[in-house]
Amino acid sequence: MDFRISWGETSGDVLVMTFSRFPYRLFIVSYIGLALLGLISCSPVTPNVADLVVLNADIWTMKKQSPKAEAMAIAQGRILAVGSKQDIQSYINNDTRIIDAEYHTVVPGFNDAHMHPMMVAPGSINLGYPAVVTMADLLGALSKRAQQLPAGEWLLAWNYNDKLLGDHPTRVQLDSVSTVHPIMITHSSGHVKSANSLAYEGAGITAATENPEGGAYDRDDNGEIKGVCREMPACEMLFSERFPEPERELSTSIEQLRETVKELHSFGITSIGDAYVTPALTLVYLLAINDSYPIRANLMFIDEQVGFAKWMHRLDSIGLIDSLSDDRIRMSTVKIFHGNSLSGATCWLYEPYANRPDYFGIEPARDQSSLNAIVKEVHDSGMQVAIHANGDREIDMVLEAIELAVNDNPKPDHRHRIEHASIMNTGLLKRAKNLGVVLALHSYVYEHGAKMEAYGEWRFPWMHVNRSALEAGVPIAGNSDYPISSAHVMTRLRSLMTRMSTEGRVYGPQQILSAEQAIHSYTAGSAYASFEETEKGQLTPGHYADFVMLSDNPALVDAEIVNDIKVLMTVVGGKVVFEQ
Ligand SMILES: [Zn+2]
Repeated sequence: MDFRISWGETSGDVLVMTFSRFPYRLFIVSYIGLALLGLISCSPVTPNVADLVVLNADIWTMKKQSPKAEAMAIAQGRILAVGSKQDIQSYINNDTRIIDAEYHTVVPGFNDAHMHPMMVAPGSINLGYPAVVTMADLLGALSKRAQQLPAGEWLLAWNYNDKLLGDHPTRVQLDSVSTVHPIMITHSSGHVKSANSLAYEGAGITAATENPEGGAYDRDDNGEIKGVCREMPACEMLFSERFPEPERELSTSIEQLRETVKELHSFGITSIGDAYVTPALTLVYLLAINDSYPIRANLMFIDEQVGFAKWMHRLDSIGLIDSLSDDRIRMSTVKIFHGNSLSGATCWLYEPYANRPDYFGIEPARDQSSLNAIVKEVHDSGMQVAIHANGDREIDMVLEAIELAVNDNPKPDHRHRIEHASIMNTGLLKRAKNLGVVLALHSYVYEHGAKMEAYGEWRFPWMHVNRSALEAGVPIAGNSDYPISSAHVMTRLRSLMTRMSTEGRVYGPQQILSAEQAIHSYTAGSAYASFEETEKGQLTPGHYADFVMLSDNPALVDAEIVNDIKVLMTVVGGKVVFEQ
């Protein structure tokens, strides 16, 4: 295929992927035909012989009544039986593959409920892994890249850490890298960027330009642009007619997704929620994911494309997407962006930021009545909303919108989600519980703990309230928000189990989870968040045979070294996809 997808530069949750030229109606119609063929060829038979059995394992089933088992039998991609070694023997015949787990821990496949596997543009430099710690090194890395790029092409990088560097790089510092390439580098929050003079010039943004609603440009005492833009409405203006967003070819995107899938398997991840899916990306998923690159994906469609989302949801509701993707892809969620960033210190608060008595963050671009309208539209369509909100003042607005939609049109099990919900209080948590809202809370204290300082110590116990949510009976879904924090699951579990930052400081120990709670959130919790608890997140009969074998038992290892536990084997639908 030779059409190109305008994919957009990347920025935290605010991934822009324009998609005006793609004939998605044609795409939908052709897929209905293919999917119907798939439906006709389906012939479910209950087998009594296993393709695969796992013996001698410490299996965490995640089922309350019978949390542990030592063996399980698998057939046709699903779990047939779980129990003692004797229970499983009868399912074995000559063709059965037997895995001796040698008493290693086996848990359900990890499910990263909110991430952005395609957010990083190919060719952009990663300043975060390994971390670039000095401004000189940062400028050096960019200069090296500039030498390889033709003049006029975007020089992009991501994941710089202002806390390590001492400050955000300025426009003038970036000018020392190049005056013939537009440069834009993205902060580790994803919500803040810095650009050079040529990028600002191309976009015609000067001291006289007003800040757009929902965004801001940092300025010096004379009002001159310093280089840093905050939030998408400000940063996306830097893509101009003269220097438009770089485009990606479809084939490059498919390749990138497949490479990412392989990496996720090595972390034990068998399911993901992609929290920013455009029509273009939908196509990439449908083409990239197959038996050679199997992963289950819950696609959360961007709120600019509710019409497209409704179409795809209808197809999914009648089984067409499952048939087409071999049960791997789910389409029933709309991701709504409401509010700003925690690690970028832009989220909107009731009380001011620490040491900044006049600063409450940036007000969300969408007002209450338009938020109410979009939440109602999605709710009435039978889909789930997953709403990004961090500050307590943003979360309040989100809960109000969900309350209105639900009161107007009650549904017993809508499971609307709030993504991140970083700064909570008792009242907000209670409302979330009463409404049946699911929280996909951050697990990133390890990477972003130092950025919590901006909110003041008194807030730490009320930030990323994983434990309080569980105690209040509010379901939580484990996630990385990759690339905002690493998708490496053992690092996420360590963060949830210690609340310790890279620098070794513990933030809000009240919210520490046990190994069981952390793994539950990353398996059964995430499955519940996408209505998939009858198929995922447990190792019990009928569930997908998606599981992970670990080198050590996370409940018996010191929490501070949980990230050293190795993934020995990852299995998706009964097939080994990673082994070491
Ligand atoms: Zn996100």
